[in-house]
Amino acid sequence: MTTAAERRELLKDVYERARGCTRCPLHQTRTNVVFGAGNADADLMFIGEAPGANEDRMGLPFVGQAGKLLDKLLAEIGLERKEVWICNVLKCRPPDNRDPQPNEIESCREYLLSQVELIEPVVICTLGNFSTKLLRADTTGISRLHGQAETRILAARAVRLYPLFHPAAALYTPSMLETLRTDFQRLPELLALGPPEQPQVVELLPEPELDEPEPEPPLEATEPVPAAQLGLF
Ligand code: URA
Repeated sequence: MTTAAERRELLKDVYERARGCTRCPLHQTRTNVVFGAGNADADLMFIGEAPGANEDRMGLPFVGQAGKLLDKLLAEIGLERKEVWICNVLKCRPPDNRDPQPNEIESCREYLLSQVELIEPVVICTLGNFSTKLLRADTTGISRLHGQAETRILAARAVRLYPLFHPAAALYTPSMLETLRTDFQRLPELLALGPPEQPQVVELLPEPELDEPEPEPPLEATEPVPAAQLGLF
């Protein structure tokens, strides 16, 4: 059983690794790694697509117009940003806000799964197509899936996956905004269900002795941790 304080510390370690990440070419053009922000002990997690220009500059997710809409929808169900966890599939901004590429998604996958593993959310809202397709490992689009909760195993835990339209798309399409709002209103009842039944833990045979593991490569030169980001989880 991990305490909230332990969870936060473990999450900070993952953040430190992500801050020095050079796994894909996006590290060359980023200003900040946008790891995620909010409550490390949250029951509710939102996963968007990738940081935009504002997010890249500030090192925080969903700080532009789409973020304001997300805040408003949260307020309508009595929640604040600091009570949930908000992050993206990609932790670095794709130049000119182009779509995430498969190699970038693959490079970043481990960070996202670590977040799911450590935070242990009850409900994960995937926002838009990229996070929905990634977490469902399926190409079915968001128009068919939004508003339908399903139980999925992620990072060895069962979670309630709840795909939603991306707030950035809803900003410009009033009918989509109405649908997003209607889907959002179901979140309290979904959260109230609590975690879904967890998979049985299979007792593993003892691990064979392995050779000494390769030492971790040193982290990239690190700048001071942006206080705003760390302060949020
Ligand atoms: N801001 C983010 O952080 N993610 C998105 O997907 C869109 C805007």
